Amino acid sequence: MSGKNIHWAVALNRRNRSLSFALSFLVVGTHLQVVGASPLQWLLLTLQLLAYPQLVYWRALRSADPLRAEVHNMLLDGVLLGAWCAFWGMPLWLCFLFFICVCLNLMIFEGLPGLARALAAICVGVVPVALLTGFRFRPDTTLATSLLCIAMLATYLLTFAYGAYRRGLALRESSAQLHARLEEITTLQTRLQEQASRDPLTGLFNRRHFDRALAETLAHCIRDDRPLTLAITDIDHFKKINDNHGHLAGDEVLRSLADLLSDRVGDAGMVCRFGGEEFLLMLPGMPATEACGFADALRREFESSRVRMYGEEIGTTLSFGVAVAPEDAAEAHALLRRADAALYTAKLRGRNRVVMFSPVDLADAAAS
Ligand code: GH3
Ligand code: MG
Ligand code: MG
Repeated sequence: MSGKNIHWAVALNRRNRSLSFALSFLVVGTHLQVVGASPLQWLLLTLQLLAYPQLVYWRALRSADPLRAEVHNMLLDGVLLGAWCAFWGMPLWLCFLFFICVCLNLMIFEGLPGLARALAAICVGVVPVALLTGFRFRPDTTLATSLLCIAMLATYLLTFAYGAYRRGLALRESSAQLHARLEEITTLQTRLQEQASRDPLTGLFNRRHFDRALAETLAHCIRDDRPLTLAITDIDHFKKINDNHGHLAGDEVLRSLADLLSDRVGDAGMVCRFGGEEFLLMLPGMPATEACGFADALRREFESSRVRMYGEEIGTTLSFGVAVAPEDAAEAHALLRRADAALYTAKLRGRNRVVMFSPVDLADAAAS
């Protein structure tokens, strides 16, 4: 297995176990020297505290489930250290050091159940040995052993706290990054939604958006017993502009009309590019006569306006068809059909005019 693929728990525990067991060798060694240990005891101590960490690392490294293997290793730590403490009648300081390290290690991985398993593992190590050899724990030890115990425990706890601090810091950083990403996505979504509802040439709402808004607004107006006027306008002889001045000039005329319409309608309603050179105006709350006057003012303003392109002045006129809900129709699609029929009549009558819908228009439009 390459170094890159080693499970984080295995790598972390190898470092921590190797280091802490080597330090323990030093601490237990000072104690064994005082009590005058035999060569066999020294050999066993060496095996347990210096060879064992490498053996369990090797075992976890080859395991199919490294995390599970590491938890088992930590439980084995508890059993073996508990057994040694009981067997040698270790000073209480040393026993406490091993006890707290085994408990904390398992708690980091498994929380309270980890603590319960750690206690159980220690008992499995301590009880049978203590029953065989008698409870030989002693409170006394040399100053050197006590000081080393304190130093080791302090190192362990400080390392532990620093690790927790770094994890907290990383968590805060990644949560801030996540937050920023989420905001980015939300902004992007809003922009996409906005783009999906706009006509790219004029920046006006597109028909899809308008259809939805018209159905909703119409329902509100009918509920509140208010009129809703729908006006459809079409540029007269627009094809000629394209033919005579070019497509870009035609685009410029479309943009200037879009600006005029959205500027004059403002908050009083909604404007959309219906398609090609046709535009829709939704005027909720505006009665038909007022709407016709409003449309006529727009018509006159557009007629007198000019678009400057390639040193030329381009001007043309508008035809309007107007229908009002609920008199002409109470449903969005039917209302649109009536406004369109009125526009057809305006074109028939010679263009450059506003025509209010009358039922005859429908018959004329159907006959065409
Ligand atoms: P009428 O008075 O009967 O409405 O005649 P018209 O020439 O305005 O209408 P017609 O339907 O014959 O031509 C509309 C033209 O609008 C044809 C099409 O090429 C042009 N057009 C549609 N969309 C665009 C556009 O986005 N930019 C430009 N420049 N032209 C467009
Ligand atoms: Mg036209
Ligand atoms: Mg047209």
